[in-house]
Amino acid sequence: MKRTTALLLALLLILLCGCGKKEATETVYAMDTVMELTVWGPGAEKQVQAAAERIQELEETLSVTRSDSEVARLNAGETVVLSEDAAALLEQSLILRDETDGAMDPTIYPLVKLWGFTTREYRVPTEAEIAEMLAQVRAGTLEIEDGTAAAHGLELDFGAVAKGYAGAVLARELKEAGVKSALLTLGGNVQTVGLKPDGSRWRIGVRDPWGAEGIYLGVLTVGETAVVTSGGYQRYFEEDGTRYCHILDPSTGYPASSGLASVTIVAEDSLLADGLSTALYVMGLEKASDFWRNRGGFEAVLVTDDGTIFVTAGLRDCFACREFQVIER
Ligand code: AMP
Ligand code: MG
Repeated sequence: MKRTTALLLALLLILLCGCGKKEATETVYAMDTVMELTVWGPGAEKQVQAAAERIQELEETLSVTRSDSEVARLNAGETVVLSEDAAALLEQSLILRDETDGAMDPTIYPLVKLWGFTTREYRVPTEAEIAEMLAQVRAGTLEIEDGTAAAHGLELDFGAVAKGYAGAVLARELKEAGVKSALLTLGGNVQTVGLKPDGSRWRIGVRDPWGAEGIYLGVLTVGETAVVTSGGYQRYFEEDGTRYCHILDPSTGYPASSGLASVTIVAEDSLLADGLSTALYVMGLEKASDFWRNRGGFEAVLVTDDGTIFVTAGLRDCFACREFQVIER
């Protein structure tokens, strides 16, 4: 009898430990990047699978390069009945465009194409080509009514916000399914759900813009949040000794050269974090600092071209790094 009780207890203990440690990971290639999704807890396998399928669904809707996506059809001049995802992303990214005074602008796509960033057939366009394309983009209009959209003379690219939107959607849906702990790495975007399985906070590395993958400048200790980095180092080409990065300044049509090497945004809302990482990279240190002071609702790590690290005041105590300067309110 004693032996049976001991055996049952041991079995119970194994089951309990097993459940607590249950972990499932999926690697997905979508939105032009490698994504790693990890979920902990009961049902982790099923939840991570559902998340991976959701990413593919978003990719099919939002990809600018898949000819049958809603975005591609809009860009081809069709009037499109928008899915809930495309409608939400369009609406929120246009709000962000206004808020950032156009530093993040999803209608910049014709210029992204002109520089070859879509096809990776890079080239430096002539000044006249850029001016002509900019004029065309500015003259374009977007008609949105009752969930239907049509673009006139302009094309959209959600490259600056789609991964952020995906992070927000996945986090929400995982939580609705009862997940208490997950780590979603969508290229340069990180989204956490809850705390680590052991109840401690997450440690998220901020990539060294000059280092190899996996080399970090510092580490952020965070709870449930999005941590999104934009940097010229993530995609660029060089011609005649000049480096041209994939983030364009919509006010000039040229790659942003604002003196920043990378911008990391920490915010609850992953779409906001993604949009702002691109926008603040375009703005440069001073404008970005003022934007943070005036708007709030997010924190940032800004690395200048000379390697100086600036951190907004709210991150002072959760950023571990050799040396940094604090941007005060
Ligand atoms: P991210 O990596 O989030 O900073 O987004 C950069 C991507 O967004 C680029 O690869 C382009 O496809 C697109 N893009 C480039 N510049 C801008 C901009 N100023 N506003 C919006 N999208 C942009
Ligand atoms: Mg972005």
